[in-house]
Amino acid sequence: MKKLVTILAFAATLAAADTPDLTMQTRIREEGLRNSKVMEIASGLIDGVGARLTGSPNMRRANEWTRDKLAEFGLANAHLESWGPFGRGWSYESCSVRMTSPDVVQLIAVPKAWSAGTNGPVRGRPVKVKLETTEDLQKAKGKLAGKIVMSSEPTAPKAHDEPDLRRYDEKELSGIEQYDVVPKPRFTPEETVRRRRFRRELAQFLQDEKAAVLIEEGRGDFGTMIVQQSGSQKATEPQGVPTVTLEAEHYDRIARLLDAGKDVELEVDFKTTIYDQDLNAYNTIAEIPGTDKKNEVVMLGAHLDSWHSGTGATDNGAGVAATMEAVRILKAIGIAPRRTIRIALWSGEEQGLLGSRAYVAQHFGSRAEPKDPKQRDLPLSMRTEKTPLELKPEHAKLSAYFNLDNGTGRIRGIYSQSNAAARPIFESWIEPLKDLGVTAVTMRNTSSTDHVAFDEVGLPGFQFIQDQIEYDTRTHHTNWDTYERLQKEDLMQAATVIATFVWEAANRAEMMPRKP
Ligand SMILES: [Zn+2]
Repeated sequence: MKKLVTILAFAATLAAADTPDLTMQTRIREEGLRNSKVMEIASGLIDGVGARLTGSPNMRRANEWTRDKLAEFGLANAHLESWGPFGRGWSYESCSVRMTSPDVVQLIAVPKAWSAGTNGPVRGRPVKVKLETTEDLQKAKGKLAGKIVMSSEPTAPKAHDEPDLRRYDEKELSGIEQYDVVPKPRFTPEETVRRRRFRRELAQFLQDEKAAVLIEEGRGDFGTMIVQQSGSQKATEPQGVPTVTLEAEHYDRIARLLDAGKDVELEVDFKTTIYDQDLNAYNTIAEIPGTDKKNEVVMLGAHLDSWHSGTGATDNGAGVAATMEAVRILKAIGIAPRRTIRIALWSGEEQGLLGSRAYVAQHFGSRAEPKDPKQRDLPLSMRTEKTPLELKPEHAKLSAYFNLDNGTGRIRGIYSQSNAAARPIFESWIEPLKDLGVTAVTMRNTSSTDHVAFDEVGLPGFQFIQDQIEYDTRTHHTNWDTYERLQKEDLMQAATVIATFVWEAANRAEMMPRKP
């Protein structure tokens, strides 16, 4: 009896799995690993266009460059698709922050996105004042007019006792394969709402106080700093005062000199521009048309937008280059997939998956707004009130979406996003990919990128597991997210693996199974 049960269970596993297309996997590997163009694509975008803040002129250039490149690869229907109003664009043209006393030194600083410019140089002794809570603001009231404000205590960087570069070893990978019974979010919903409110409150406060400049200490050290946004793309929200991020060692030196009572003088001068002629933002879309199942679609994608202080190489030029290279590989070997393969390069990801969510709402469906106002305040992914889904006809025709957005590292596996029926299918596809380091299929969910937009409306959306390389230590949202940090062999592998997944999904007998 026990034996029969085992045999039946084994048969069930076989039925749920696929037979991978080994001929095609060989051809994809040959093109992807022996004739790769992934670094050319990466350099064209990252060096040629540069940073890509959504709404900026560079973002538009990146949209056009990727559209033209995909058309050049032979994809059909390459176009820019507006996803509706995003808000104002922003860029900065120059930034100089100097200490002029007691020593003369040029400092490493970048304005925060959507910040106003200084309108000429601002000189003066900075004031260091803690502005982290509403009570802090009350205490500082009336003291900041015309001042260069430093808003936090120095972080005092420590010696690095771990390597910048990280790859998963076997043990860590099998750890990821263990399901998180109770997932632990970085911030609770209450913290998230409080942090957002306080950011707006601080911007309004400094504006009302007529402070001249806000200097924030960048997270990071050794000249590497995370720079994100201070103002907002929405014209209805306060722009705040001119705000600049200063790297840690420079910030801390000034803070120490101030604490020692020295005669410190800074000179801050930066110019920024707001663009409000076209408030829409765009995704780049292109297709390889299917054959007998051409009305069914397999999608792949990555976000094209980035922050502005580096050139958005690992976040997420890498994902863009790898997914573009994946469709180039498929076109180059002259395939005719059963289902249509569609690539989407999103904008607005950094401001909350805006481009992919709007695309999903326009094409596939969306959830009604929650009734509870507390729920409406939360980011979509934190809402617990499950409102009704309003579906469009295309919802029935999307097989799966595959996303790449965790840096330059090679693909080590895939998050099945709690879709138990997808797991044996992925396991069968990766069997011939194990020698490329792809071994893990986990039931775990991963968040914070564009596959979530699909998952939220009941569509199979997946993100790959990647080696981190220097993502968390150096590049993610920093001024040193540049081409040099890309790993050629990793990107070649990633493009090859993505092309394989997309091919298998486009040609299997059935669409990918959905979660119940
Ligand atoms: Zn990203």
